Amino acid sequence: MCLYANGQLQQVEATDFWREQGCRIAMTDENGELYIQKYPKYKDIPKYKFALGCLHSREWKDRMTGLARQACSFGADGILYDQLGMTRPLLCYGSGHGHPVPANGHESERPSFLREIRRETSRLNDSFALMTEGIHDSILDSISCFHGCETGCFQARLSWEEDFTKGADNWTRAFVHDADSRFKHDPGENTVFPELFRYAFPEISSTVRVPSPLVDRTMVNWTILYGLRHDIELRYADDRRYALDGIVPPPGEGYPRVSSPPDVTRMNNIDRKEAYAYLRAANAFQKRHSKFLCEGMFADVDGMELVAPPCVMAKRYRSAAGESCVIA
Ligand SMILES: [Zn+2]
Repeated sequence: MCLYANGQLQQVEATDFWREQGCRIAMTDENGELYIQKYPKYKDIPKYKFALGCLHSREWKDRMTGLARQACSFGADGILYDQLGMTRPLLCYGSGHGHPVPANGHESERPSFLREIRRETSRLNDSFALMTEGIHDSILDSISCFHGCETGCFQARLSWEEDFTKGADNWTRAFVHDADSRFKHDPGENTVFPELFRYAFPEISSTVRVPSPLVDRTMVNWTILYGLRHDIELRYADDRRYALDGIVPPPGEGYPRVSSPPDVTRMNNIDRKEAYAYLRAANAFQKRHSKFLCEGMFADVDGMELVAPPCVMAKRYRSAAGESCVIA
């Protein structure tokens, strides 16, 4: 179980932390304005408004390290800092943040910011995982596993399996991050090209992000085939009821206030216990063959030829010792 924290967002005027420290250490642009992000989580309230904590500031580092310590104390297996593997470099003109003015916080400070947290969690629990959303090569030394959130590792909806059976053209489109307009403008950008992604990053550890409290069998298999890790998200009260007590909201109900709910119809059509058991078994399988499937190098179809109907997929992996395996 990995707990969630945002690595940079602080809700404006909502907390004592904001009033006492956060407002002073918020990233500021050249006009003296705060960098603001807004997210609509619920339909019946205004969008939450967030400023960015400056990664250079001691207060933000202490706050984030404190959250990692808290997650360790709860017995979590790791903590996920949202956004830190995705945010582009931004100039901060704020003063009193511990950097020259201006400074490029995400470029210069992101790696050491996470390294500092990593040092603390290693001291407390050497196997504690540090994760972040997205993929960023400047933080490979501190991040245990990335929370896949780009083309190549994002399952937009649970009906992916149906698209898959219709053929490659459909299943690639099913991975479109259709909740987010940033990914909408170019059809080429919308399609998954996992071979290219994994061939470029053959040893990277990343989940396939599934914004839903369950993952179906085909998706589990797909994730293993591409040497990625599984994830499910428990974000809302209905997610929690589903995961803990097996309560599936009736069709048309559930998640009444949530802006981007999971696919409830699909959840109703999948046997929860079977899905969870399959995911557990799949994880055990990956662990048993971890020298290939977790720590090995993705080799796509180099050196092999697959002669099978289009619905059969196979990939090759190389271990550090030079052995090969093919998974179908
Ligand atoms: Zn700053």
